[in-house]
Amino acid sequence: MKVFVIGANGQVGHELVNTLHKNEHHEVTAMVRKEEQQKELEDKGITSVIADLEGSVDELAEAMKGQDAVIFAAGSGGGTGQDMTLLIDLDGAVKTVEAAEQAGVQRYVMLSAFGVGDRSTWSDEIKPYYVAKYYADHHVEESSLDWTILRPGALTDDAATGKYAAGKDAEAGEITRNDVAHALAHIVDDSSTSKKAIELVNGKHPIEAALKSGI
Ligand code: NAP
Repeated sequence: MKVFVIGANGQVGHELVNTLHKNEHHEVTAMVRKEEQQKELEDKGITSVIADLEGSVDELAEAMKGQDAVIFAAGSGGGTGQDMTLLIDLDGAVKTVEAAEQAGVQRYVMLSAFGVGDRSTWSDEIKPYYVAKYYADHHVEESSLDWTILRPGALTDDAATGKYAAGKDAEAGEITRNDVAHALAHIVDDSSTSKKAIELVNGKHPIEAALKSGI
């Protein structure tokens, strides 16, 4: 499967690209926005394209042409203002859905966040982020794509555990960025996750078993 990763230079994205690159069933293309990032990937033998979520739908569609799947692992980050939350986490995400539809890329996996689907759980401190993710996720769900939305808990930089709790078995908690990356790499070609929004935290089971039990 040809997998196109948006946010490939991010902390989750980086691990995701490396994981997909090592997997013989996948051919990964990393979307980055700087030449030096592209050079680093080239040195590792990883294919990349330069594109920006602030660009047009046409440009994004052109970048992902010929791919089988898109994984959206980008985000404006905590260090920017609410304008960037709107431009990247909401409009940037929506544009990638439109671009995937335009380019005929059917499979789409969105990296969202725990609790996005339930307004009553949104923290006041980062409510605009939840609003952006909620409406981006809604757009994914309403699209013509074969989508999955992954909603991990609070991300940590700890070592991967390989152990998860998913869906109805997942209570608000933490998950390592590496575990999120490995889960995304699994989910992209797991048809049992199709048209589902899945909460995910670290737990007791390998990803297949966690998904089987929780969704
Ligand atoms: P990260 O390290 O900040 O990575 C975000 C990536 O998005 C970066 O590679 C960045 O590119 C890219 N990006 C930003 N603006 C862009 C643009 N205009 N065009 C193209 N790419 C752009 O984030 P992370 O730690 O990997 O987390 C990934 C996502 O998980 C977050 O964005 C968030 O939505 C979600 N999440 C976070 C938490 C949490 O606890 N923090 C919990 C649940 C879900 P550059 O490298 O070029 O800057």
